[in-house]
Amino acid sequence: MSHTVSPVGFVRSCFKEKFAIPRQPQLAPAARGVLELVPPFDKGEAVAGLEQVSHVWLLFLFHQALEDKPRLKVRPPRLGGNTSLGVFATRATHRPNGIGQSVVRLDKVEPGRLWLSGIDLLDGTPVLDIKPYVPYADSVLASNAIAAEAPQPIPLSWDDQALQQAHVHGQRLGEPLFELIEQCLAQDPRPAYQVPEPERRYGVRFWDVQVRWHYPQPGQIHVLEVVPA
Ligand code: SAM
Repeated sequence: MSHTVSPVGFVRSCFKEKFAIPRQPQLAPAARGVLELVPPFDKGEAVAGLEQVSHVWLLFLFHQALEDKPRLKVRPPRLGGNTSLGVFATRATHRPNGIGQSVVRLDKVEPGRLWLSGIDLLDGTPVLDIKPYVPYADSVLASNAIAAEAPQPIPLSWDDQALQQAHVHGQRLGEPLFELIEQCLAQDPRPAYQVPEPERRYGVRFWDVQVRWHYPQPGQIHVLEVVPA
């Protein structure tokens, strides 16, 4: 059987590239975005009642990781990129049908627009469906020995100028930019198998700014600058 699905909307996100996006939602509460609904879902009727809900499930397409050939095994970055597991044992982006799911906070509802935080979605992500989170059914006492707990955040330090730049750009954007940088970099975006040389610079774009950092020692991040991208 084949059935065609089409997006109900697209996410405008703080994340402009895949690198440094947290590996799951809720890890960076300052990660915000707006889900812009497309016709006919851009009418107030489609979201009537949703203002009574604090969190929603988003079902979306990993539109920048779609593949023709299905994989049976994947190497999740969280496990260092060396261990392979069955695709259904992981939340890897390369998967049959390319469908992702995230529970995100719903901060505000407007006709045609949902304001979200705690997202792990790339800018432009097509959303296939939205469902209210139902705590009594969705919150279960579960175990998962592969991903038992959230990764331990790593310590961050800042150059004085970078700190000031983060505050200036955060104010201009009307976004919690300092918190976004802290929360995302503390997840250590670097692939686990790469040993960072202290002189190597890493960078990523959040909103319209470029954040640059290095690792004075492995397991420690120093933010160097936050400049217009
Ligand atoms: N919470 C979702 C899930 O479990 O289905 C996503 C988990 S996946 C491991 C999270 C990663 O997906 C992020 O770190 C980001 O690099 C990547 N990602 C997010 N949006 C994407 C998109 N539209 N296309 C491709 N990759 C995306």
